[in-house]
Amino acid sequence: MSLAEPETQKALDTTESNAELLATRKAHFLPTAVHYYKEPLHLVRAKGSLVYDEKGREYLDVIGGIVCISAGHNHPKIQERMIEMIQNDEIQHTTTLYLNRFATRLADKLADEAPAGLDKVAFSNSGSEANEMALLAARNATGETTVINIQHSYHGGTQGTLAHCGHHSWRFRAQPVAHNVAVIAPNCYRCPFKKDPKNCHLECAQHVEETIQTTTHGKIAAFIAEPILGVGGFITPPVEYFQKVAEITHKYGGKYISDEVQTGAGRLGKTYLATKSLGIDADIITMAKGFGNGAAAGAVVMRNEIAEALAGKFHFNTFAGDPFQAMQALTTMEIIEEERLIENAHEIGEYVKNGLVELQKRHPLIGDVRGRGLLLGIELVKDRETKEYATAETNQLMELMKDRNVLIGKGGLFGNVVRLAPALSITRQQADQLLKALDESLGVIEKG
Ligand code: PMP
Repeated sequence: MSLAEPETQKALDTTESNAELLATRKAHFLPTAVHYYKEPLHLVRAKGSLVYDEKGREYLDVIGGIVCISAGHNHPKIQERMIEMIQNDEIQHTTTLYLNRFATRLADKLADEAPAGLDKVAFSNSGSEANEMALLAARNATGETTVINIQHSYHGGTQGTLAHCGHHSWRFRAQPVAHNVAVIAPNCYRCPFKKDPKNCHLECAQHVEETIQTTTHGKIAAFIAEPILGVGGFITPPVEYFQKVAEITHKYGGKYISDEVQTGAGRLGKTYLATKSLGIDADIITMAKGFGNGAAAGAVVMRNEIAEALAGKFHFNTFAGDPFQAMQALTTMEIIEEERLIENAHEIGEYVKNGLVELQKRHPLIGDVRGRGLLLGIELVKDRETKEYATAETNQLMELMKDRNVLIGKGGLFGNVVRLAPALSITRQQADQLLKALDESLGVIEKG
């Protein structure tokens, strides 16, 4: 089956203006639903790394939805399979109460990509749910409640995951708390131990052991961490940190949960799961976002003994692993393999990172460039000595980039970190477009 080229640049015949959409949204959405840009964009079409607003204006999407687009927007292989399934009247809703070839194949493929020993899989509709299952499984297997999390981390918006959230701005008053203890973030740019990463002694990892010894009864359920702290502003801990912390976690009886909701699906440019290439001795890995290439699909992969400890109880998630979700995640995995997108993430990631380091030489606003593969962060500071957060400047940069048809993300507790996470299929030419727009926009801000 072949699909006609979509007329991406054609204006969409919408009945409401953007002003009307915004007014209705303000009337009915919760005040927690914020939007990017003074005048929010209305994106209606997409292809690869490009997205289009209702008027047909084209933008380069360098944040991939919200770190969700791995194989590229509207990949033809996924489109074709979706159309085929619909035309064949394939069942849209079925659950784990029945057999489902897509979910089964997906579990098999995921187990192949996971580090040795992790081969039991559960699906979910989101990253939050995947982490809920991971936390439940770790607590159940150990019989312990305490979970160690990292300050500035984010693991989801549900009650359980929010208890392990390292941002006051995401936590709510009177929220029931699960037992957790937060450790200092391994942030080399703002090292809390005032060390230089080149000659430190991983004081940040030692601090994890000290925290367990001084704030718990000496046993923990889990340590949960992202390989790169996404919402926290792409804080990129040294590789040795993970290895050391996994040892500590196991020493105190805990399970290591590697939250790959943002870093998974090949984004870090080495292996499908970054946990593997970073050599993290994880017991449970969670993923979502790029896993389904934008479909509401998440997953947890865990060791058999942790899964076995759940036996005898029911756990059910109505929509998890439904045929359409599972097909999209499975096809995304195939595309990543066939189109060598992990290699591309590595190659273009290095190219962009080098370009950013060059920009840093000319633009005093750039305090730090970090990340791996195609998960790259630029921390903006008002002054390189004081490292004062350049929050307003980051907002201004977002607007200036939008004026230049490039969409970027931002993050960090103080909203001063630019987040770049394009489709893994982004081209060198598009990378040049990004770097040029950044160069120009930073120049405009610096001129005042
Ligand atoms: N973990 C991480 C690392 C995330 O970045 C997010 C989402 N930003 C989540 C979990 C939660 O995922 P979801 O929004 O799909 O529930």
